[in-house]
Amino acid sequence: MSEFLSLEGRTALVTGAARGIGKAIAKTLAARGANIVVVDLRMDLAEEAAQEITATGRKAIALEADVSNQESVKAMIKTALAKFGKIDILVNNAGITRDGLIMRMKEADWDLVLDINLKGAFNCAQALARPMMKNRYGRIINITSVSGITGQAGQTNYSSSKAGLIGFTKALAKELGSRNITVNAVAPGFIETVLTEELPDEVRDISLKLTPMARFGKPEDIANAVAFLAAEESSFITGVTLQVDGGMVM
Ligand code: NAP
Repeated sequence: MSEFLSLEGRTALVTGAARGIGKAIAKTLAARGANIVVVDLRMDLAEEAAQEITATGRKAIALEADVSNQESVKAMIKTALAKFGKIDILVNNAGITRDGLIMRMKEADWDLVLDINLKGAFNCAQALARPMMKNRYGRIINITSVSGITGQAGQTNYSSSKAGLIGFTKALAKELGSRNITVNAVAPGFIETVLTEELPDEVRDISLKLTPMARFGKPEDIANAVAFLAAEESSFITGVTLQVDGGMVM
């Protein structure tokens, strides 16, 4: 019998995996036995992440792609499939913020956030849907946010993109379930990464006060939830949004 939550023999593609939560997800899935495709725009950091994984005995490659660009995603997926033969697990993690009150938000900042956070997940899932359907196996995990559940002032673009991802997760779960492909979302609360380190102290203090577990999350907290949803043992869980937020939103 294989180890509980083993990912031995699986290949996972993680977007935005050069740093932060994505990197922690890539390393955690590798530690459970998966080979990894590290996808990012930042190739220096992506190569470093792939090397760290290779050093642990798993196969890993770093591929450059802008997830908001369909042609870039198609070319990257083609290379990944040529290298590994199959992708079993897709983690749509790449995401950005361009915060601002709606009165001052530039159209370009609305478009960019929606294009990367929401259309990026569509581009990657669409490119992998057919090969996963042929294999009769797949795990698609979308990294959303508690901001997509509660809404956040100053984040109409980001909250919309993350709420959109939750709807996308449910619709795709219904489309692909009969082919043994699950589609789930993970909604992080406040996690300490580059994305959050620039926030003003008062925002950090409020977030901490709202978190019953009385600490900020670590990228590994999210990675562990993703590893659970990626495993064979989670095969009857689909269309859900798993909050990993220390109890911030309930
Ligand atoms: P991060 O440290 O900024 O990492 C995001 C990674 O995605 C970066 O390496 C970035 O590359 C890459 N990326 C950005 N745009 C891309 C594109 N178009 N194509 C490919 N890669 C791209 O962010 P994080 O905090 O780890 O967040 C990861 C995910 O968790 C995001 O979806 C975020 O919305 C979500 N999340 C985070 C928190 C939190 O508290 N940190 C909370 C809720 C949800 P560059 O360096 O080139 O930009």
